[in-house]
Amino acid sequence: MIFDYAIFNGELLPVDKVQISLFTRSLYYGYGVFEFVKIDQGQPFYLEEHIRRLFKSAMMLDLKLKVDADTLMAWFQKLIEIDPQVTCNIRILALGEIDANPVVAMKPEPLRIYPKSFYQDGATAILCEGARVVPTCKSLNYVVNYMARREAIRAGALEALLHHNGYLVEGAFSNFFIVQQGQLITSPESEVLSGITRNLVIQIMQETEYPVIETQILLDLSQYEECFITTTSMHVMPITQIDGQLVGDGQVGTITKMAMSQFETHYQEVMAKNIGENK
Ligand code: PLP
Repeated sequence: MIFDYAIFNGELLPVDKVQISLFTRSLYYGYGVFEFVKIDQGQPFYLEEHIRRLFKSAMMLDLKLKVDADTLMAWFQKLIEIDPQVTCNIRILALGEIDANPVVAMKPEPLRIYPKSFYQDGATAILCEGARVVPTCKSLNYVVNYMARREAIRAGALEALLHHNGYLVEGAFSNFFIVQQGQLITSPESEVLSGITRNLVIQIMQETEYPVIETQILLDLSQYEECFITTTSMHVMPITQIDGQLVGDGQVGTITKMAMSQFETHYQEVMAKNIGENK
């Protein structure tokens, strides 16, 4: 079973044999970066972009990975080959070089499945005040996000939306879109994690009558006609209630439905092409 294995600096090992010291200094400071990739029937979705973002995040922290992208792709494939038809997520973790041995590890994790009703009727979110340090970087410095998500779970909500200085910026683990006066809006790339799903939604919606506008989003729920979040594992997830308040009329809106269906079409096309190329 793939879940019994992990990659540790290129070596395929039983997952319980992958160990580092508790006193690894990079852990003290959260000095590391990570990625979370979706695998569907053995095919990764936009793996190259995830690896590219890993290097970009590492660069932002001046963290030298000491391996190149092709090597990481090869390690990744070595893991998938254990179960070539697997559907799962794979976490990639790179710890900094404060210590003598920088680490890159990859670990399969079960796919998260979200209830169909969330996609049909919309999910709920809560608001939390806070901002990540180096918000454009997928670093291990995620304590703000972790605490916000924990608060969301306690409140029975799917996601926490982070706001700061009067602006709603991003989800704890997602990018955030709203529809306001018929326009589809998301926070500027310079202020958030440049989500792979976010960027695909921007590309896809560019071809429609609702191109995405990147601008700051004022924290004023009464102005939002529709709202959705995007992530690798959720794809496009409608949010119809925030802090107990309905978004617009509380239904999944037309533009959200369009983004959802266009994204799913793109996803199926990419996966079908990957399967075709790897036959
Ligand atoms: N924003 C943050 C802060 C995240 O942690 C994530 C994913 O973990 C995302 C956005 C979504 O990014 P992606 O679409 O690449 O999964």
